[in-house]
Amino acid sequence: MNITESVPPLDSYTEELISELTGAQSGVSAPDQAEKDEMSALYKKAESLNLTAPIIELFERLLACCKEGKGTLQDFGLSGSDLEKLAVKHQEIDEHMVSVGGRLTRALPIACIANSRVEEYLAQKDEIAPSGIERWEQIQENKKRIQSELKMSEDDWNSFQGQIRNAVDSVSTLARLIDLPENVLESIARVTKSYRMRLTPYYTSLIMPGVINDPIMLQSVPTGEMIDNSGIEIPPVAADHSPARLIDQFYPRVLTIKATNMCAMYCTHCLRLAHIGRKDHTYSKEAYGEALDYIRKNKRIRDVLVTGGDAFVLPNTLLRWLLEELDSIDHVKMKRLGTRIPVTAPMRVDSELLDILEASNARKPIRVVTQINTAQEITPVSQDTFRQLSSKTFTVLNQAVLLKGINDSRVKMWKLCETVHESYVRPYYLFNCSYRNPQFSHFRVPLEVGRDIVESMYGNISGDAIPRYIATAGGKIPLHRSNVVEKRGEDVVLKKPWSGEEALYPDADPEVYGRDLFAFNMQEK
Ligand SMILES: *Cc1c(COP(=O)(O)O)cnc(C)c1O
Ligand code: SF4
Repeated sequence: MNITESVPPLDSYTEELISELTGAQSGVSAPDQAEKDEMSALYKKAESLNLTAPIIELFERLLACCKEGKGTLQDFGLSGSDLEKLAVKHQEIDEHMVSVGGRLTRALPIACIANSRVEEYLAQKDEIAPSGIERWEQIQENKKRIQSELKMSEDDWNSFQGQIRNAVDSVSTLARLIDLPENVLESIARVTKSYRMRLTPYYTSLIMPGVINDPIMLQSVPTGEMIDNSGIEIPPVAADHSPARLIDQFYPRVLTIKATNMCAMYCTHCLRLAHIGRKDHTYSKEAYGEALDYIRKNKRIRDVLVTGGDAFVLPNTLLRWLLEELDSIDHVKMKRLGTRIPVTAPMRVDSELLDILEASNARKPIRVVTQINTAQEITPVSQDTFRQLSSKTFTVLNQAVLLKGINDSRVKMWKLCETVHESYVRPYYLFNCSYRNPQFSHFRVPLEVGRDIVESMYGNISGDAIPRYIATAGGKIPLHRSNVVEKRGEDVVLKKPWSGEEALYPDADPEVYGRDLFAFNMQEK
């Protein structure tokens, strides 16, 4: 076997590199004995080991010396042919025949430029956007304080009923659990006359003491602005889109059943403010029956979303029944359950519920769609809940809302998406906060700010951790910026979202695409 014959000649990058090294003039200083010994040890390693890294290291060091005028090849007792031999060896060893010159003068600098795009994020993420996992010690301290103040037993804390029974729904209770200034308490007292507040003790424990505008508190404790932002409330979209009892339908093949108006925690930015939370209702089997009848009669319906409120508020028996009913409809091919409970009251997800989901998923795919808006909502407890949910279902998806002060910066949004992803959940949608409810206009973020944030994720975090950016206006409308710039001659000009660089992309030839006969369908001659 003759290996050298199969190795292609050195490429231009390597030839240039070697000629730069051989042509180097003596410069500012000559290497001392220690430096010479070091280089000769490196050379021995590069020559004797069957590895690429020592070869790259040797070339890198030589290049640095020659650029800084601190030694030539001769100074180190090396010759151009020594280097050529090593370069050939590098190409032989490397599975993809990458050359020394390619790796050292092209690939490594390119990787270095790419690295610089994430430096700021890596330096800031745990400080600016800590997750509930990183804040776990503080959260457990908060838990102890809240548990003893509310006189909750450990069993109470760990049960959904205990969480709901002890939910924080008055300013006076909140004031006992969290140290808040007088004017803030007054504002909350004013707003809770018109808007309901309810935090589970668990969710309350995620609030960081002493942090003004803590992202958990912003989402769960209403402020006076909700009243001050008076304006005309645009009627819920449902008014135009509810063809049957409990049903919302925007699209021909997907619809939602609003199966309850209850949630474990009431969000300050809730789109369904008008329906949700004013008063807890349970619905009759008759109401569900009418919704199911509508689905049964509409053979186009393929995908059914059970939402609310929060689908996991429904008792297990009802959820089991509803899923069995849906699975028994031939044309219904898949389901989704919308729930925020894994972050607001994860103890709700008991083994019985997991069994129900697993059984339904075995019949037809079921997805769990959740809402996580800040990394601080993800704790070891909710992460473990998501892990179990994702192992029993088709997938768990996240629909976040872009909210001022909560996730409206690159660092916060990247951190959210990465933490969600690391918790067995896929970022699915990022909603621009709706214009429909003036009560929370103070949370709204301009469309362009969201576009910049979403664009900044391309190339910098895993593709399946990047959500689609959406405005809801009688259906979900994608807001992403186009990266197709223009047509230039035969090429299409594309823009790389992470650097703004142009890439020329030759499109498919329309003439070739227009041919009817191709592949196995060629006309015989
Ligand atoms: C969000 C939503 C859907 C689902 O939309 P997808 O794009 O399939 O996630 C369906 N119906 C209604 C009424 C919705 O609000
Ligand atoms: S969980 Fe959803 S439905 Fe319930 S209050 Fe929050 S946003 Fe509204």
